Amino acid sequence: MSFFSGFSEEEKLLQDTVRQFARDHLAQKIEKLDEEEGFNREAFHILGSLGLLGITVPESDGGAGLGATAATIAFEEVAAVDASTALSFLAHSILCVNQVALNASPEQKKKYLPKLISGEWLGGMGMTEPGSGSDALAMRTRAVRSADGKSYTLNGSKTFITNGPVGEVFYCYAKTGEGKKDISTFLIDRSMKGFSTGKKFSKMGMRASPTSELIFENCLIDSSQRVGNEGDSLKMMMRNLDLERITIAGISLGIARAAIDAAVTYARDRKQFGKPIASLGVIQERVAESSAWYDACRALTYQCAKLWDEGKLEGKEASAMAAKAKLTSAQMATKVALECIQILGGYGYIREFPVERYMRDAKLIEIGAGTNEILRLIIARQILGEASLG
Ligand SMILES: Cc1cc2nc3c(=O)[nH]c(=O)nc-3n(C[C@H](O)[C@H](O)[C@H](O)COP(=O)(O)OP(=O)(O)OC[C@H]3O[C@@H](n4cnc5c(N)ncnc54)[C@H](O)[C@@H]3O)c2cc1C
Repeated sequence: MSFFSGFSEEEKLLQDTVRQFARDHLAQKIEKLDEEEGFNREAFHILGSLGLLGITVPESDGGAGLGATAATIAFEEVAAVDASTALSFLAHSILCVNQVALNASPEQKKKYLPKLISGEWLGGMGMTEPGSGSDALAMRTRAVRSADGKSYTLNGSKTFITNGPVGEVFYCYAKTGEGKKDISTFLIDRSMKGFSTGKKFSKMGMRASPTSELIFENCLIDSSQRVGNEGDSLKMMMRNLDLERITIAGISLGIARAAIDAAVTYARDRKQFGKPIASLGVIQERVAESSAWYDACRALTYQCAKLWDEGKLEGKEASAMAAKAKLTSAQMATKVALECIQILGGYGYIREFPVERYMRDAKLIEIGAGTNEILRLIIARQILGEASLG
């Protein structure tokens, strides 16, 4: 359906593989999981066996050795069937596994990567806290180093953490100094004493992607769990946010595509006043607008992913481009899902058809990984420079 066809043969093969996986292992289950707020754990074992959980990890570290484009393709294809699993897949592979591969020591990689890449362990990332969402640098979780330097004691909590209720390993940020930028990273195992996850949140959408708090109560961990140098995590945290924003746009694309497909099928079939509703100008207008915006967002997102993979997106430009891809795609998906509900009329509003789920799932991407408002600020600052700060 889409005009964007800049994929290599390898990328097209990946697209087919993930599409098949989604049809075989997600399609039959998502409706019930969405209803019951379950989780498709089995899907992660299969994603592991397909080599997709370490999609951006170099082959030398046991991964697929692919990049942002491949990850975005994978998330788009999974999300076109089951956006919840796509979100959990992204939290695992981009927010946790990719960061371990990029920033962890050889010993840490040896301990964590094989099990995370096979799907034996699930991962997540803890940055947001109850008192600090958009203002992430105001985080209050503290890690205090022992006098002999051999351990840290963590206190505080993280909230809205994807895979919190089901994950084994969390890539977590904590303050190790008084300054806003004194942020360090720690690898937290579920079994660590003083660590727990709060109750699972009940959500409007993405209901089959479990979310919870992560709680640290005098959580004593060995210094060997720290990733990188103390107080040196800000840059890698922000860089990963850019990658997250490009690749999460793939989830919005997948949802929008599924919504348009459902609406087109319905509009061709449904007859009112003796003719298919597809013959009505108002329906054609909704389909045409939805398809045009989907194509535009898809072109921007994959262009960003390609530039990222070619090493051509750095610094503030990378942040602004990633913000543009996510801002436009996320808004587009919510709007398209709403348009498609309207095309289905009453059937769009009831749960027997998936389009109402598409709308509930799509909305999350306007909030997670940076709200629309924060992304607009990032873009405006890059364009207007210092003047934007007043
Ligand atoms: C389902 C789900 C999964 C998530 N998964 C994770 C995860 O795995 N790991 C993780 O660390 N976090 C995760 N998050 C957290 C997510 O990134 C935050 O919710 C998001 O960054 C917004 O923070 P907040 O909810 O505290 O909102 P707030 O920051 O309190 O914002 C509230 C409102 O104020 C606006 N606002 C705030 N500051 C400004 C400003 N300066 N200018 C204009 N408007 C502003 C916001 O745009 C928003 O509309 C998840 C969230 C959800 C809902």
